[in-house]
Amino acid sequence: MPCCPECGAEIDHISLAENIRMYWNLLPNGEWDQIDDSNTYPADDPDSSYECPECCAHLFDTQEEALDFLNNKGVTPCQPE
Ligand SMILES: [Zn+2]
Repeated sequence: MPCCPECGAEIDHISLAENIRMYWNLLPNGEWDQIDDSNTYPADDPDSSYECPECCAHLFDTQEEALDFLNNKGVTPCQPE
């Protein structure tokens, strides 16, 4: 498995953090009603960030880079201590 270049942890997946815009309705009684998630941004939001699941460091900007990393393409695998 590849290693996170930031924290050194062995990771078998990458976390995708997306900027999601949530919509809420303000009701006359002062309560909030959440609109369903049909208005969230798609996964190809340019601000999406592929991050280490251990330390949340930003590692990649694209799915291709993240997949190459997870499949050890051009990456030195973790060496056991
Ligand atoms: Zn990390």
